[in-house]
Amino acid sequence: MANDDEFEDSIFDNVNEAELAELERPKKRRRTSKGPQDNRDDDSIFDDLDEADLAELERPTQRPRTSAEVPNTQGGQSRLALAERILKEQFGFPCFRHEQAGAVQSILAGDNALVIFPTGAGKSLCYQIPAIAFPELDKVDGLRGPSTAGVTLVVSPLIALMTDQVDALKKRGLPAESIDSSKSWEDVQRIYASLRESKLRILYCAPERLNNEGFVATIGDIPGGIRLLAVDEAHCVSEWGYSFRPEYLKVARFADEVKAERVICLTATATPNVAKDICKAFNVKESCVFKTSVYRPNLELHAKSISAGSVPADYWIRLVLGMPEGDKGFKTESDKRFEELFGFLRSHPGPTLVYVALQQQAETHANVLKKHGFNAAAFHAGMKTEEKRFVQDGFMSGKIQIVCATIAFGMGIDKPDIRNVVHWDLANTVEEYSQQIGRAGRDGKKSYCMFYLAPSAFYLRQIFARADLPSRQSLKGLILDILGQARDLGVRQVFKVSHYQQEREYDIRASPLSIIYATLELHFGFFRAITPQYTTYKFEAMKSYHYTLKNDSSKEATAILSGAKKKVKFHDIDVNEVASQACLTRDNIVKKLNQLNERGHVKLQTKGLEHRYIILRELPKTEPEIEAVVDKVYAQLQTRETDALNRGREVMDLITGNRCFARALAEHFGMGLPGGKPSCGHCTYCFTKRPVKPPAQPREATTAASIQRVLQATKVRDDPRFLARVAYGIKSPRVTELKLDKSPVFRSLAHHDFDDLLREFTKACDAAPATKRQA
Ligand code: ADP
Ligand code: MG
Repeated sequence: MANDDEFEDSIFDNVNEAELAELERPKKRRRTSKGPQDNRDDDSIFDDLDEADLAELERPTQRPRTSAEVPNTQGGQSRLALAERILKEQFGFPCFRHEQAGAVQSILAGDNALVIFPTGAGKSLCYQIPAIAFPELDKVDGLRGPSTAGVTLVVSPLIALMTDQVDALKKRGLPAESIDSSKSWEDVQRIYASLRESKLRILYCAPERLNNEGFVATIGDIPGGIRLLAVDEAHCVSEWGYSFRPEYLKVARFADEVKAERVICLTATATPNVAKDICKAFNVKESCVFKTSVYRPNLELHAKSISAGSVPADYWIRLVLGMPEGDKGFKTESDKRFEELFGFLRSHPGPTLVYVALQQQAETHANVLKKHGFNAAAFHAGMKTEEKRFVQDGFMSGKIQIVCATIAFGMGIDKPDIRNVVHWDLANTVEEYSQQIGRAGRDGKKSYCMFYLAPSAFYLRQIFARADLPSRQSLKGLILDILGQARDLGVRQVFKVSHYQQEREYDIRASPLSIIYATLELHFGFFRAITPQYTTYKFEAMKSYHYTLKNDSSKEATAILSGAKKKVKFHDIDVNEVASQACLTRDNIVKKLNQLNERGHVKLQTKGLEHRYIILRELPKTEPEIEAVVDKVYAQLQTRETDALNRGREVMDLITGNRCFARALAEHFGMGLPGGKPSCGHCTYCFTKRPVKPPAQPREATTAASIQRVLQATKVRDDPRFLARVAYGIKSPRVTELKLDKSPVFRSLAHHDFDDLLREFTKACDAAPATKRQA
């Protein structure tokens, strides 16, 4: 029911950065995933390795404690025995793999832990086994009874994956549930009841759920409390991380507030800096970090440089979108890249993922491949759920050989025999590259990764990296607005804002906006987010509507029936009004409406998502106080842009550096190759013994005339960064609002240096009289 229009904002029409967020955004109705992924049980990513390799992989960089080192040896051993018994009896696996045993033991001994295993290695068991072991340990300890067994709470960003896990656990007869937006009011009540009765062992939820004050209160009151808090995708907590998510910082606060007995953090990728951040946020000792090597002996890592060719400037957009130019007398970079790709795919048969940067590319590339006789399909977050499902199932079952995908494809895909992973564009970060190639060859058989380095890919990376930083002036406007909303309110009072409107009003994209709010909340402690609300509810009554409500004896049903006002097609309902009239809570009215919607008695529509914040302390009032806040927040946002640019450079360095790719990759994660080997022997560098030369990047110097053209297209002079974005081709809320993305000057200076553009437009703005924002 979320009004999805509100979320459509991107630098390109189809940008992939929004996709991760999209994945976790509560969807109307999530599929209950029952598909090929459920056959994961016997999958092992390291099946076919030789013994020496395995021994190496198992060797941790920081040695975990063996059971003998756990303080209470007796207890340590019996805990391990119990864990092994659960592993065999409940999960049907003969033994632990990687560092699972160490992690499980730490948790059972009462420590916090961090687990860094690649996807598919078996992180979930590290919390699932303790969750089941607690009541049994309680019996041995005699310290508490079954009615205070507590629960293990798993915070995980992907609802679809949570559903898979819950289904798998239930199949094994283990009491697990997830609380997410697809749950009906009754479902939620039932889950709360089983929590109160200590009947649930594992509960999954998304991090956003922790903003829900009702949920937090319920969880805080469970008899026995939270025995274990499991934080999946824990790298999101780190500002160093490639996918920092402010919501995750609140997970750490939540752990303290509900006094979680212990915490286990799980991630597939963590550089040393990220691991340090996670350990700090969740109080994990160094000896309780468990990790496996990222080295994959069965992967051949290849890279190839594609030169620009004789590319006229107006081909930029075509280049970016990878559209072949047909017969035009010369070859574009894109033509060349496609030729390479066709050759690669012909000589490397088997299931293949081709990663691209944009949704539109996923589509165009799949079409081009189909035209050339390949069995290909597209996958990206912009597709309909059924289409995505179709492609995913087709790929899993082997009906589709090649998927051209954005970053959205892969999470939760556990296909053992992916033979090739191709990077058409530069990956955003080394972590992302590592995750994506890690999907190849999970069956241990030889697999190939190909990475194309082309000039237009650099341009794309710039676009992504440069899109988030607002101008300082925009930021100040926003902060003044927020303070204004709260001006006449006191501590403990609630103010509401629409992020959507603020994005447009202050030309700040959704992701930096949420970081700004998180900084004001967590760094300055000004306020705290509580459950967001929709301002407007309306519905279309179905045939069964009247009959159902008349026969529903609940107070909510009666209140809705009398409070909803029929207009032409829709019934309008003011939920606040209806609730207060009937002395009910707004929450229960909303839940009832959702329930009616789910059962098909109404078609519910919501609009105007409002974020709500409760004020925690006095807010800054004087100009210097406000300036100080703006400075601090702005510095943080600037650092993020620099980091994003650096991350792109790290990917380049990995591929074009004077050393083995696999070794460079391992070192990025603070490790080395097995046995301290200097090189892997199966990457482009090892094969050719020389670095891959990056393609020349066409760069033009800015001319007065080209700058002037952009200035003539708009009256805006208050924001040089805005003008540079228009010229370079980066969308922002204000660019779209002024329709400048449709102007010929948009992206007209794409082949220039962004910093040069920024300098030139700063000069132009300084010279112009301060013109007010254009309407
Ligand atoms: P991750 O979260 O690390 O990506 P999962 O926890 O989803 O991985 O596990 C991947 C697969 O490995 C699952 O099918 C799981 O049942 C299986 N698995 C986990 N641990 C073991 C083990 N010790 N022995 C055999 N299979 C295991
Ligand atoms: Mg997992």
